[in-house]
Amino acid sequence: MDISKEDECDKENRAYLLTKQPDFRILSMKDFKVGHEIGKGKYGRVHLATNKSSGYIVALKILLKHELKHDKLLQQLEREVEIQGNLNHPNILKLYGYFQDEKRVVMILEWAPLGTLYAQLKRQMRFVEKQASRYIAQIAKSLKYVHEHHIVHRDLKPENLLIDKQGILKLADFGWATYVQDFTNSSLKTICGTLDYLAPEMVKRQPYNEKVDVWALGIICYELLVGTPPFESIGFHPTIQRIVLDEVTIPDYVSREARDIIIMLLQKNPINRPSMEQVLNHPWIRMYNKNSSSQNSQPKLTKTIITNINYSNC
Ligand code: AMP
Repeated sequence: MDISKEDECDKENRAYLLTKQPDFRILSMKDFKVGHEIGKGKYGRVHLATNKSSGYIVALKILLKHELKHDKLLQQLEREVEIQGNLNHPNILKLYGYFQDEKRVVMILEWAPLGTLYAQLKRQMRFVEKQASRYIAQIAKSLKYVHEHHIVHRDLKPENLLIDKQGILKLADFGWATYVQDFTNSSLKTICGTLDYLAPEMVKRQPYNEKVDVWALGIICYELLVGTPPFESIGFHPTIQRIVLDEVTIPDYVSREARDIIIMLLQKNPINRPSMEQVLNHPWIRMYNKNSSSQNSQPKLTKTIITNINYSNC
């Protein structure tokens, strides 16, 4: 793997490939020089790779078809490709395309050299408020964009946030994401995502909307500052019970401003949770992020977003 090309690629190739990229759908494994494994997920392995014709470095997520036979997994992959492939925002991991052969489906992803926020948090135990605020601002920007395009992510957690070479956070893994025409009249009911991040209305099997992502942002905010999610318990039912019933208790070392934003985000009633615009204008965010509400605002979609995706029965 020719990592010496990395800097060059970072500067020019991304923009080049986004505007003049070859049709990645017609590529195959032989178009890439595949390097070492950089990660292993539940259903596939992720390898560093160089596109032979452009020298562009990407991450290839390789999924084995026989492991995808289960219907739900195929549906998740379809969502990832259709939704993530059409999003274009500095805080969302770019999905350039995909290809398949007899045995594998391969997703061509933007490479995030610093790995997941989860791994960084495990190394540091918890973050200082400035760093946490900067990360929360970037997640809020990605969610603002996603929600403006009528998409709910539904699996927001530190494992699904990747970090690029400049330390920019990238929202990834749109396997549970779904399109909702009208958030005020959403019929979403499926319980999906990861236990510690599930919103009360979802675990109570009530119809829910984009506010489940706002709840998950509150959980992450707490976790970045304290080191563990606020309702963590041993076992499924005790955790569910705490999510629904317990008020969040925040250690004394957390500042008044950070405490305020956590409480705002972790409102049990979704109607009382703030919009992403309100989050970006909160004093704890403004304190550490210059121009937090206008930065990175409203980049265009790569293509027109697919408005006919209908997963409303999920
Ligand atoms: P996943 O299958 O998406 O859960 O990915 C498994 C692991 O691979 C993650 O925990 C990351 O450490 C790594 N990984 C996935 N995608 C990327 C990427 N685009 N850039 C860098 N590392 C990645």
